[in-house]
Amino acid sequence: MSHHWGYGKHNGPEHWHKDFPIAKGERQSPVDINTGAAKHDPSLKPLSVYYEQATSQRILNNGHSFNVEFDDSQDNAVLKGGPLDGTYRLIQFHFHWGSLDEQGSEHTVDKKKYAAELHLVHWNTKYGDFGKAVQHPDGLAVVGVFMKIGSAKPGLQKVIDALDSIKTKGKHAVFTNFDPRGLLPESLDYWTYLGSLTTPPLLECVTWIVLKEPISVSTQQMMKFRNLHFSGEGEPEELMVDNWRPTQPLKNRQIKASFK
Ligand SMILES: [Zn+2]
Repeated sequence: MSHHWGYGKHNGPEHWHKDFPIAKGERQSPVDINTGAAKHDPSLKPLSVYYEQATSQRILNNGHSFNVEFDDSQDNAVLKGGPLDGTYRLIQFHFHWGSLDEQGSEHTVDKKKYAAELHLVHWNTKYGDFGKAVQHPDGLAVVGVFMKIGSAKPGLQKVIDALDSIKTKGKHAVFTNFDPRGLLPESLDYWTYLGSLTTPPLLECVTWIVLKEPISVSTQQMMKFRNLHFSGEGEPEELMVDNWRPTQPLKNRQIKASFK
């Protein structure tokens, strides 16, 4: 590819394998979650989310999505338990969404697409930093939260209100004192499987933890995501929509459920 990867017709997911051959690998994400085939695993522990001391720092439009970044120089906000061994530190969260309410999530449930999907990204502290962690099969733990259209999610509104200040690629803004607990549903029941990053370099380093219960967001909240731009300031305007990768073959993997 002479042009950078993206989500367009000429540089989108169908082309990524040319620069990133692992795109056709054995543990790619996202996948469809066939709820009938996912087996309850009674040995799975409950998820332990310790976000009380989470320290958000900045919000950034990276031209693919936007990241809310956290101070991960200490164990401020960590994830343990569930399918995980050890401690995983929160580094950032971001979203994937559609041009319409009928699509936008990356994972699907019995082929159903949600309007959007939140990814809370954590790295395994035994590897010392994020860059090292992604080079290991157990390097990252990403919590996926489906988003459906309904009532507004109050815990999301501070994020929405920051989007005007990061409309175009490369823009960032200070974003402190944000509590990511406000983005979680009531239940932490989950499906889990071994997969990959869903954006290039598509590294196969992720233990996926996809929550069963979606959060609801209002149409007005969802519309504000769709006002962001993939493009930079002064470039032809490309709206940031449909920044999701389609589901990939499950191959030789099993999805396990934490619940009956
Ligand atoms: Zn993601």
